[in-house]
Amino acid sequence: MAARRPKVCIDRILPSEMMRLQRTMRGPAGRVRAISPIGKAWMNGSTLRVKFMGGTSAQQRTVREQADWWSQHANLKFDFNNAANAEIRIAFDASDGAWSYVGTDCRGIALNEPTMNLGFLDGGTAAHEFGHTIGLAHEHQNPAGGIKWNEAAVIREMKKSPNFWDEQTTRHNILRKYSVDQVNGTQVDPDSVMLYFFPSSWTANGIGTKANDELSSIDKEFIAGAKMYPKTGTTPTDAPELKVNAKTRTKASIGTAGEEDLYRFVAKADGRYVIDTAGPTDMYMKLFGPTSRTALVAEDDDSGTDTNARITADLIAGNYFVQVRHYNRTAGKGNYTIKVRKM
Ligand SMILES: [Zn+2]
Repeated sequence: MAARRPKVCIDRILPSEMMRLQRTMRGPAGRVRAISPIGKAWMNGSTLRVKFMGGTSAQQRTVREQADWWSQHANLKFDFNNAANAEIRIAFDASDGAWSYVGTDCRGIALNEPTMNLGFLDGGTAAHEFGHTIGLAHEHQNPAGGIKWNEAAVIREMKKSPNFWDEQTTRHNILRKYSVDQVNGTQVDPDSVMLYFFPSSWTANGIGTKANDELSSIDKEFIAGAKMYPKTGTTPTDAPELKVNAKTRTKASIGTAGEEDLYRFVAKADGRYVIDTAGPTDMYMKLFGPTSRTALVAEDDDSGTDTNARITADLIAGNYFVQVRHYNRTAGKGNYTIKVRKM
Protein backbone atom coordinates (compact mmCIF):
# COMPACT_ATOMS: atom_id res chain seq x y z
CA MET A 1 0.00 0.00 0.00
CA ALA A 2 1.47 3.28 -1.02
CA ALA A 3 2.03 5.84 1.69
CA ARG A 4 -0.25 8.80 1.48
CA ARG A 5 1.70 11.51 -0.23
CA PRO A 6 1.26 15.08 0.90
CA LYS A 7 -0.41 17.29 -1.63
CA VAL A 8 0.92 20.68 -0.83
CA CYS A 9 -0.91 23.77 -1.87
CA ILE A 10 0.80 27.04 -2.63
CA ASP A 11 -0.91 30.14 -1.38
CA ARG A 12 0.36 32.70 -3.79
CA ILE A 13 1.16 35.90 -2.01
CA LEU A 14 2.23 38.63 -4.34
CA PRO A 15 5.48 40.43 -3.64
CA SER A 16 4.83 43.69 -1.88
CA GLU A 17 5.68 45.86 -4.87
CA MET A 18 2.90 44.20 -6.82
CA MET A 19 0.30 44.67 -4.14
CA ARG A 20 -2.39 47.24 -4.70
CA LEU A 21 -2.08 48.37 -1.13
CA GLN A 22 -0.61 51.68 -0.28
CA ARG A 23 1.48 52.15 2.76
CA THR A 24 -0.12 54.39 5.33
CA MET A 25 1.93 57.51 5.88
CA ARG A 26 3.16 58.69 9.21
CA GLY A 27 0.74 61.06 10.85
CA PRO A 28 1.90 63.98 13.02
CA ALA A 29 1.12 62.22 16.28
CA GLY A 30 1.18 58.82 14.83
CA ARG A 31 2.73 55.57 15.65
CA VAL A 32 3.43 53.80 12.41
CA ARG A 33 2.09 50.38 11.87
CA ALA A 34 2.99 48.66 8.62
CA ILE A 35 0.11 47.56 6.48
CA SER A 36 -0.30 43.93 7.16
CA PRO A 37 -0.39 41.58 4.21
CA ILE A 38 -3.34 40.05 5.95
CA GLY A 39 -5.16 43.16 4.78
CA LYS A 40 -6.16 40.97 1.91
CA ALA A 41 -9.71 40.51 3.04
CA TRP A 42 -12.41 41.67 0.64
CA MET A 43 -14.83 44.30 1.78
CA ASN A 44 -17.38 42.81 4.10
CA GLY A 45 -20.65 42.10 2.29
CA SER A 46 -18.98 41.69 -1.11
CA THR A 47 -20.37 39.58 -3.90
CA LEU A 48 -17.44 37.94 -5.65
CA ARG A 49 -18.02 36.79 -9.20
CA VAL A 50 -16.59 33.47 -10.31
CA LYS A 51 -15.59 32.35 -13.78
CA PHE A 52 -14.74 28.77 -14.65
CA MET A 53 -11.87 28.37 -17.10
CA GLY A 54 -12.65 24.75 -17.92
CA GLY A 55 -13.70 21.88 -15.69
CA THR A 56 -16.40 19.25 -16.05
CA SER A 57 -19.89 19.90 -14.75
CA ALA A 58 -19.14 17.52 -11.86
CA GLN A 59 -15.97 19.45 -10.98
CA GLN A 60 -17.80 22.76 -11.17
CA ARG A 61 -20.59 21.41 -8.96
CA THR A 62 -18.04 20.40 -6.30
CA VAL A 63 -16.52 23.89 -6.40
CA ARG A 64 -19.92 25.55 -5.99
CA GLU A 65 -20.83 23.30 -3.07
CA GLN A 66 -17.60 23.92 -1.20
CA ALA A 67 -17.55 27.68 -1.84
CA ASP A 68 -20.97 27.72 -0.22
CA TRP A 69 -19.50 26.19 2.96
CA TRP A 70 -17.83 29.57 3.50
CA SER A 71 -20.69 31.82 2.39
CA GLN A 72 -23.02 30.11 4.86
CA HIS A 73 -20.93 31.66 7.62
CA ALA A 74 -19.12 34.64 6.07
CA ASN A 75 -20.89 37.78 4.92
CA LEU A 76 -19.81 37.09 1.34
CA LYS A 77 -21.64 35.85 -1.72
CA PHE A 78 -20.27 33.99 -4.71
CA ASP A 79 -21.93 34.60 -8.05
CA PHE A 80 -20.96 31.88 -10.53
CA ASN A 81 -21.82 34.00 -13.55
CA ASN A 82 -18.66 33.37 -15.62
CA ALA A 83 -18.22 37.12 -16.13
CA ALA A 84 -15.16 37.97 -18.22
CA ASN A 85 -13.95 40.28 -15.45
CA ALA A 86 -14.88 37.99 -12.53
CA GLU A 87 -12.76 38.49 -9.40
CA ILE A 88 -12.20 34.72 -9.10
CA ARG A 89 -11.16 32.69 -12.15
CA ILE A 90 -10.72 28.96 -11.73
CA ALA A 91 -8.66 26.64 -13.94
CA PHE A 92 -8.50 22.85 -13.64
CA ASP A 93 -4.99 22.11 -14.90
CA ALA A 94 -4.12 18.64 -13.54
CA SER A 95 -0.39 19.27 -14.05
CA ASP A 96 -0.31 22.42 -11.94
CA GLY A 97 -1.37 21.28 -8.46
CA ALA A 98 -3.79 23.26 -6.34
CA TRP A 99 -3.21 26.86 -5.49
CA SER A 100 -4.87 30.23 -5.13
CA TYR A 101 -3.88 33.81 -4.77
CA VAL A 102 -4.82 35.24 -1.39
CA GLY A 103 -7.80 37.56 -1.04
CA THR A 104 -7.68 40.90 -2.84
CA ASP A 105 -4.36 39.93 -4.51
CA CYS A 106 -6.66 38.23 -7.04
CA ARG A 107 -7.39 41.69 -8.43
CA GLY A 108 -3.79 42.10 -9.49
CA ILE A 109 -3.90 39.13 -11.85
CA ALA A 110 -4.51 39.61 -15.59
CA LEU A 111 -8.11 38.82 -16.52
CA ASN A 112 -7.10 36.07 -18.94
CA GLU A 113 -5.26 34.19 -16.20
CA PRO A 114 -6.70 32.05 -13.40
CA THR A 115 -6.57 33.19 -9.78
CA MET A 116 -7.03 29.60 -8.62
CA ASN A 117 -6.06 26.21 -9.99
CA LEU A 118 -7.69 22.97 -8.92
CA GLY A 119 -5.38 20.29 -10.32
CA PHE A 120 -6.96 17.90 -7.85
CA LEU A 121 -10.24 18.14 -6.03
CA ASP A 122 -10.24 15.39 -3.44
CA GLY A 123 -11.69 15.98 0.01
CA GLY A 124 -12.02 19.63 0.91
CA THR A 125 -9.52 20.96 -1.64
CA ALA A 126 -11.94 23.45 -3.19
CA ALA A 127 -12.94 24.71 0.27
CA HIS A 128 -9.27 25.07 1.16
CA GLU A 129 -8.52 27.10 -1.97
CA PHE A 130 -11.59 29.27 -1.46
CA GLY A 131 -10.25 29.86 2.04
CA HIS A 132 -7.18 31.46 0.41
CA THR A 133 -9.37 33.39 -2.02
CA ILE A 134 -11.25 35.01 0.85
CA GLY A 135 -8.01 35.92 2.62
CA LEU A 136 -6.98 32.98 4.76
CA ALA A 137 -3.43 31.70 5.05
CA HIS A 138 -2.14 28.23 5.77
CA GLU A 139 -2.80 26.97 9.24
CA HIS A 140 0.56 25.17 9.27
CA GLN A 141 2.21 28.56 8.97
CA ASN A 142 0.36 29.95 11.96
CA PRO A 143 2.92 31.83 14.08
CA ALA A 144 1.20 30.54 17.20
CA GLY A 145 3.22 27.46 16.40
CA GLY A 146 2.25 23.89 16.80
CA ILE A 147 4.34 22.15 14.20
CA LYS A 148 8.01 21.56 14.97
CA TRP A 149 9.46 20.74 11.60
CA ASN A 150 12.24 18.31 10.92
CA GLU A 151 13.53 20.77 8.35
CA ALA A 152 16.07 18.44 6.70
CA ALA A 153 13.42 15.74 6.19
CA VAL A 154 10.89 18.16 4.74
CA ILE A 155 13.41 19.69 2.33
CA ARG A 156 14.60 16.21 1.27
CA GLU A 157 11.08 14.86 0.69
CA MET A 158 9.84 17.89 -1.19
CA LYS A 159 12.74 17.58 -3.66
CA LYS A 160 11.24 14.27 -4.79
CA SER A 161 8.28 13.53 -7.06
CA PRO A 162 5.62 14.84 -7.38
CA ASN A 163 6.73 18.24 -6.11
CA PHE A 164 10.40 18.65 -7.13
CA TRP A 165 10.69 21.74 -4.98
CA ASP A 166 14.04 23.32 -4.30
CA GLU A 167 14.99 24.24 -0.75
CA GLN A 168 13.96 27.85 -1.16
CA THR A 169 10.47 26.93 -2.35
CA THR A 170 10.01 24.51 0.52
CA ARG A 171 11.20 27.07 3.01
CA HIS A 172 8.81 29.66 1.58
CA ASN A 173 5.75 27.46 1.34
CA ILE A 174 6.10 25.13 4.29
CA LEU A 175 8.75 26.02 6.84
CA ARG A 176 8.42 29.75 6.97
CA LYS A 177 5.86 30.99 9.43
CA TYR A 178 4.02 34.19 9.00
CA SER A 179 5.20 36.66 11.58
CA VAL A 180 2.70 37.40 14.28
CA ASP A 181 1.91 40.94 13.20
CA GLN A 182 1.27 39.82 9.64
CA VAL A 183 -1.57 37.59 10.67
CA ASN A 184 -5.02 37.97 12.07
CA GLY A 185 -5.47 34.59 13.54
CA THR A 186 -6.56 32.08 16.03
CA GLN A 187 -4.43 29.61 17.93
CA VAL A 188 -3.39 26.75 15.71
CA ASP A 189 -6.51 24.80 14.87
CA PRO A 190 -5.73 21.13 14.19
CA ASP A 191 -9.14 20.70 12.58
CA SER A 192 -8.91 23.65 10.16
CA VAL A 193 -9.60 23.02 6.50
CA MET A 194 -6.60 25.32 5.97
CA LEU A 195 -4.28 22.68 7.45
CA TYR A 196 -2.78 20.03 5.22
CA PHE A 197 -1.70 16.50 5.92
CA PHE A 198 1.94 16.15 6.87
CA PRO A 199 3.49 12.83 7.85
CA SER A 200 4.93 12.45 11.33
CA SER A 201 8.41 11.86 9.85
CA TRP A 202 8.41 15.51 8.78
CA THR A 203 8.26 16.76 12.33
CA ALA A 204 10.90 16.90 15.03
CA ASN A 205 8.53 15.60 17.67
CA GLY A 206 7.07 12.80 15.53
CA ILE A 207 3.61 14.34 15.56
CA GLY A 208 2.09 14.79 12.13
CA THR A 209 -1.07 16.49 11.05
CA LYS A 210 -4.21 15.21 9.46
CA ALA A 211 -5.91 16.57 6.39
CA ASN A 212 -9.29 18.05 7.09
CA ASP A 213 -12.02 17.79 4.52
CA GLU A 214 -14.53 20.20 5.99
CA LEU A 215 -14.60 23.52 7.82
CA SER A 216 -13.81 23.28 11.52
CA SER A 217 -15.92 25.07 14.09
CA ILE A 218 -13.07 27.57 14.52
CA ASP A 219 -12.90 28.14 10.74
CA LYS A 220 -16.61 29.02 10.79
CA GLU A 221 -16.30 31.22 13.85
CA PHE A 222 -13.21 33.06 12.57
CA ILE A 223 -14.58 33.79 9.09
CA ALA A 224 -17.82 35.13 10.59
CA GLY A 225 -15.92 37.09 13.25
CA ALA A 226 -15.12 40.74 13.64
CA LYS A 227 -11.78 40.57 11.79
CA MET A 228 -13.19 38.91 8.70
CA TYR A 229 -16.78 38.94 7.44
CA PRO A 230 -19.39 39.46 10.17
CA LYS A 231 -22.97 39.35 8.95
CA THR A 232 -23.84 42.26 11.24
CA GLY A 233 -21.92 44.76 9.11
CA THR A 234 -23.47 47.63 7.21
CA THR A 235 -24.08 46.86 3.55
CA PRO A 236 -22.65 49.18 0.87
CA THR A 237 -26.07 50.29 -0.33
CA ASP A 238 -27.07 51.88 2.98
CA ALA A 239 -23.71 53.43 3.82
CA PRO A 240 -24.08 57.09 4.83
CA GLU A 241 -22.05 59.65 2.88
CA LEU A 242 -19.21 61.65 4.40
CA LYS A 243 -18.88 65.05 2.75
CA VAL A 244 -15.27 65.84 1.94
CA ASN A 245 -14.05 68.85 4.00
CA ALA A 246 -17.31 68.97 5.97
CA LYS A 247 -17.29 71.73 8.60
CA THR A 248 -18.04 69.33 11.43
CA ARG A 249 -16.90 65.82 12.11
CA THR A 250 -19.48 63.06 11.69
CA LYS A 251 -20.44 61.57 15.06
CA ALA A 252 -21.10 57.87 15.45
CA SER A 253 -20.79 55.08 17.93
CA ILE A 254 -19.95 51.45 17.76
CA GLY A 255 -22.40 49.41 19.80
CA THR A 256 -20.42 46.27 20.41
CA ALA A 257 -16.83 45.18 20.02
CA GLY A 258 -16.26 43.97 16.50
CA GLU A 259 -19.22 45.84 15.06
CA GLU A 260 -18.38 47.84 12.00
CA ASP A 261 -19.67 50.98 10.35
CA LEU A 262 -19.46 51.69 6.66
CA TYR A 263 -19.33 55.12 4.98
CA ARG A 264 -18.93 56.32 1.45
CA PHE A 265 -17.47 59.51 0.09
CA VAL A 266 -16.94 61.07 -3.31
CA ALA A 267 -13.45 62.24 -4.28
CA LYS A 268 -14.37 64.83 -6.90
CA ALA A 269 -10.78 65.39 -7.98
CA ASP A 270 -7.48 63.52 -7.91
CA GLY A 271 -5.38 64.37 -4.88
CA ARG A 272 -4.29 63.53 -1.39
CA TYR A 273 -7.05 62.71 1.08
CA VAL A 274 -6.91 62.14 4.81
CA ILE A 275 -9.54 60.09 6.58
CA ASP A 276 -9.31 59.88 10.34
CA THR A 277 -11.26 58.93 13.41
CA ALA A 278 -11.18 60.66 16.79
CA GLY A 279 -12.40 59.63 20.20
CA PRO A 280 -11.68 57.11 22.94
CA THR A 281 -12.46 53.97 20.94
CA ASP A 282 -9.75 51.76 19.45
CA MET A 283 -10.55 51.88 15.76
CA TYR A 284 -9.45 49.95 12.74
CA MET A 285 -10.12 51.49 9.35
CA LYS A 286 -10.10 50.25 5.76
CA LEU A 287 -10.48 52.26 2.56
CA PHE A 288 -11.93 50.68 -0.58
CA GLY A 289 -12.33 52.04 -4.09
CA PRO A 290 -12.46 53.78 -6.44
CA THR A 291 -16.03 52.79 -7.23
CA SER A 292 -15.27 49.14 -6.53
CA ARG A 293 -16.47 47.82 -3.22
CA THR A 294 -13.91 45.07 -3.29
CA ALA A 295 -10.61 46.84 -3.98
CA LEU A 296 -8.73 47.66 -0.80
CA VAL A 297 -6.71 50.87 -1.13
CA ALA A 298 -5.30 51.13 2.38
CA GLU A 299 -5.93 50.17 5.96
CA ASP A 300 -4.78 51.46 9.29
CA ASP A 301 -4.92 50.63 12.94
CA ASP A 302 -3.24 53.17 15.16
CA SER A 303 -1.65 55.90 13.04
CA GLY A 304 -4.06 58.50 14.37
CA THR A 305 -4.12 60.05 17.82
CA ASP A 306 -3.98 57.43 20.59
CA THR A 307 -5.78 54.40 19.27
CA ASN A 308 -7.49 56.17 16.41
CA ALA A 309 -7.01 55.35 12.79
CA ARG A 310 -5.76 57.63 10.04
CA ILE A 311 -5.31 56.95 6.36
CA THR A 312 -3.50 59.38 4.08
CA ALA A 313 -3.74 58.31 0.48
CA ASP A 314 -3.31 59.71 -3.02
CA LEU A 315 -6.59 58.94 -4.70
CA ILE A 316 -7.95 59.30 -8.17
CA ALA A 317 -11.41 60.83 -8.48
CA GLY A 318 -14.18 58.38 -7.74
CA ASN A 319 -16.44 56.87 -5.12
CA TYR A 320 -14.80 55.36 -2.04
CA PHE A 321 -15.93 53.31 0.92
CA VAL A 322 -14.54 53.57 4.44
CA GLN A 323 -15.05 50.68 6.82
CA VAL A 324 -14.52 51.38 10.50
CA ARG A 325 -14.35 48.63 13.03
CA HIS A 326 -13.84 48.45 16.77
CA TYR A 327 -10.57 46.63 17.14
CA ASN A 328 -11.80 44.44 19.95
CA ARG A 329 -8.58 44.41 21.95
CA THR A 330 -10.76 45.04 24.94
CA ALA A 331 -14.44 44.40 25.12
CA GLY A 332 -16.71 47.37 24.93
CA LYS A 333 -18.14 50.04 22.76
CA GLY A 334 -17.51 53.64 22.10
CA ASN A 335 -18.26 56.93 20.49
CA TYR A 336 -16.08 58.30 17.76
CA THR A 337 -16.07 60.90 15.04
CA ILE A 338 -14.85 60.59 11.49
CA LYS A 339 -13.83 63.06 8.83
CA VAL A 340 -12.49 63.12 5.28
CA ARG A 341 -10.32 66.04 4.17
CA LYS A 342 -8.70 66.85 0.89
CA MET A 343 -5.23 68.29 1.41
ZN1 LIG B 1 -3.27 26.19 0.56
